[in-house]
Amino acid sequence: MNTSDNNSSSLPSWIDPHNPGPWGIFVQQIDRVTPYLGSLSRLVDTLKRPKRTLIVDVPVELDNGTIAHFEGYRVQHSLALGPGKGGVRFHPDVCLSEVMALSGWMSIKSAAVNLPFGGAKGGVKIDVRQHSLKEIERVTRRYTSEIGLIIGPDKDIPAPDVNTNPQIMAWMMDTYSMNIGSTATGVVTGKPIALGGSLGRAEATGRGVFVTATEAAKDCNINIAGAKVAVQGFGNVGGTAARLFHEAGAQVVAVYDHTGVIYREQGLDIPALTQHVKTTGGVAGFSAADSMNPDEFWALPVEFLIPAALEGQITERNAGTVRAKIVIEGANGPTTPQADDIMRDNGVFIVPDVIANAGGVTVSYFEWVQDFSSFFWSEEEINQRLEVIMRQAYRATSEVARQHDISLRTAAFVVACTRMLQAHELRGLYP
Ligand code: GLU
Repeated sequence: MNTSDNNSSSLPSWIDPHNPGPWGIFVQQIDRVTPYLGSLSRLVDTLKRPKRTLIVDVPVELDNGTIAHFEGYRVQHSLALGPGKGGVRFHPDVCLSEVMALSGWMSIKSAAVNLPFGGAKGGVKIDVRQHSLKEIERVTRRYTSEIGLIIGPDKDIPAPDVNTNPQIMAWMMDTYSMNIGSTATGVVTGKPIALGGSLGRAEATGRGVFVTATEAAKDCNINIAGAKVAVQGFGNVGGTAARLFHEAGAQVVAVYDHTGVIYREQGLDIPALTQHVKTTGGVAGFSAADSMNPDEFWALPVEFLIPAALEGQITERNAGTVRAKIVIEGANGPTTPQADDIMRDNGVFIVPDVIANAGGVTVSYFEWVQDFSSFFWSEEEINQRLEVIMRQAYRATSEVARQHDISLRTAAFVVACTRMLQAHELRGLYP
């Protein structure tokens, strides 16, 4: 057989094998689960390349009359279990490898908590701090028009991610709706409540982090009340998780964001810190705390360490210094596979991103269902349903981890890949 046009290597040809970036990490994670997939491993290569990758130019007129071009992406990793689902990130470091990895993690996450979605992700390479709100609106609308070819309520449903929010989702929904000629609220989730958004969505990811932490605490014989917590990131995810820990009687002793690290041994006053961050834009300068350097932050002897910012934060460099009992991954991909091994060898219990931060996409699912029926649930009902799904997913994953004596991350990948590949096998290759 002539294999020269048969790209069977594990990386798509447009990814540099010497510098694969976050996508390389995703592929390593898939390789780790392959031995546990039985006969389905025949299909595993489909997970090592995204189903569909769209790169778009986003030309926009700036407020000063000049025209700027931004690079936009939408990647659909797998659509075997349903429409694509996943956020849109606005960040200067957005690149194809990152969006591909994030789309893969969305596939795993949705399948691990058993939602009827595939995985997708989008991004625009832009530094939002350099642009006015009007410019951000124009970028959002043009980007949405460009990816309009492949998104839709039953095709692929974007949502907020780093630096995107309900207002940006409102513009995406409006742009898509204007282009098709009718209002389609179900095309994005994370919308403002007035436009078919769901109660509880804004804090769902942070709430899911907290719920999985309470399950992990049971497994590790730790009491949440009185436990010490360190959080990286004080945005939607880290800020909400910190508040819920604080309300449950834990001491949030350190918070690390883009402005610095703050520390207080007796626990920070989280409501006061939230107010400070609202007015100043970051944790730096909070009066009732000391500052600390990032290396000290990672090495804090706490019960819970919660990376809830960007990927690649716990690496070979700092993993050996981690003294936390439990790491709960609020961010996507905060731990490299090497760091995973180092921490596991040191007895650190890790709740992986694909379970820990699945609360956001779970309430996105509730939002999508509510939009279809135009019948909206109470916040109490949403939080209750979220808790049930998160606890079930955690328990099912931990059972698989116990059976095979593998980490929770590998177990979550086993559960998710099995569901995805079973669907793929049943559907078959067509045409
Ligand atoms: N961006 C969030 C995540 O990474 C939410 C995605 C969604 O709701 O579709 O899980």
